[in-house]
Amino acid sequence: MTKSISLLGSTGSIGRQTLDVVRELGVRVAALTANSSVDLIEKQAREFHPRLVVLYDHDAAKELRGRLADVGIEVGSGMEGLVAAASLPEADTVVTAVVGMIGLKPTLKAIECKKRIALANKETLVCAGELVMDEVARCGAELIPVDSEHSAIFQCLQGCRDRSEIKRLLLTCSGGPFYGLSYEELAGKSRADALKHPNWSMGAKITIDSATLMNKGLEIIEAMRLYRLPLSQVDAVIHRQSIVHSLVEFRDGALLAQMGTPDMKLPIRYALTFPTRVVSSAEPLDLLKCAPLTFAAPDEDAFRCLAIARRCAKQGGTSCAIMNGANEAAVGAFLDERIGFNDIPALVEAALSEITQVSSPSLEEILEADRLARESVAKAIKRL
Ligand code: NAD
Ligand code: MG
Repeated sequence: MTKSISLLGSTGSIGRQTLDVVRELGVRVAALTANSSVDLIEKQAREFHPRLVVLYDHDAAKELRGRLADVGIEVGSGMEGLVAAASLPEADTVVTAVVGMIGLKPTLKAIECKKRIALANKETLVCAGELVMDEVARCGAELIPVDSEHSAIFQCLQGCRDRSEIKRLLLTCSGGPFYGLSYEELAGKSRADALKHPNWSMGAKITIDSATLMNKGLEIIEAMRLYRLPLSQVDAVIHRQSIVHSLVEFRDGALLAQMGTPDMKLPIRYALTFPTRVVSSAEPLDLLKCAPLTFAAPDEDAFRCLAIARRCAKQGGTSCAIMNGANEAAVGAFLDERIGFNDIPALVEAALSEITQVSSPSLEEILEADRLARESVAKAIKRL
């Protein structure tokens, strides 16, 4: 069980919920990191007394250094700071709750240092999953998923000694706020409409990904990498109630599911306490009170991001990194209200057709694919 964590992305939705779990479990906090939220991270630092606090933004870090001068906590900045937090000797576990590809280098560092990695940062596995998983095996690190679907699968696989018994992983998908709409009806959807998720309260980027269904596409790739399975053995099903968090189908026809109320603290807690389960004050699921459970096929004609992700999952190479980089840039532009909802899949498609793909890429080639994808989206937006 985890004794001390470095928490990357402590001011975000997963980061704040991780600190709630940490309070409950009495786990120590060795490092906290965020992008630029000086006020919140100062408050967190004063409560948890970590050895190191990092803000990626240099000016914000300078401001924080001044504010924390009285408590003697070291303040770092930039990628160097994130990597230092990921490799701090006093932390046995690194929780990666940053959003986006920015999490890749710190995750690789944590793997190299043989930490337990509680991984929420799915973009890292989407862009460089094969490389990351090879490093996990080479270094003997432990990677435990925090994403609710992947945690559900991880839980269903406890006791499965032979991975060839798995027939299929089935990821559930809430369908997001626009379930049932056609491609044409999606066109006019605004930032405010897309930020209203029916079941989960999450950071802005993943909430938009949940509205476009890119989130499910990213998660299919995440599951393929985590469990080393081909696309033909990973599928998604719409389940509006978010009670069944995902399922594993075995070759004898048995389907195992993990169920519960939609609450990210459960997968966070499990990643920290694995292989044990601890008593928790979380609201239990009352089967007699929950809505009837329904399942349906996703509509990939309307939600084109899911179809794009499946195509990239099949192609492999740098296509997933290009798709992810273009999506991060397009979602950023949608959140700034510079583009429309259906421009997101269009810009990702354009980046994929414009940029030459590389098979079996190195880390440098993945980073370059990501850079080119963001550049392609920025140029395309200027032309809109
Ligand atoms: P969020 O936007 O609420 O928080 C992101 C965190 O990352 C913040 O602390 C922010 O300061 C930090 N950050 C952002 N840019 C950074 C940068 N350039 N350098 C350093 N730190 C930076 O996001 P979230 O919803 O908590 O999601 C975090 C990750 O977890 C994402 O990859 C998301 O897909 C995944 N995830 C989230 C949920 C959820 O319920 N929120 C569920 C499953 C998976
Ligand atoms: Mg998820």
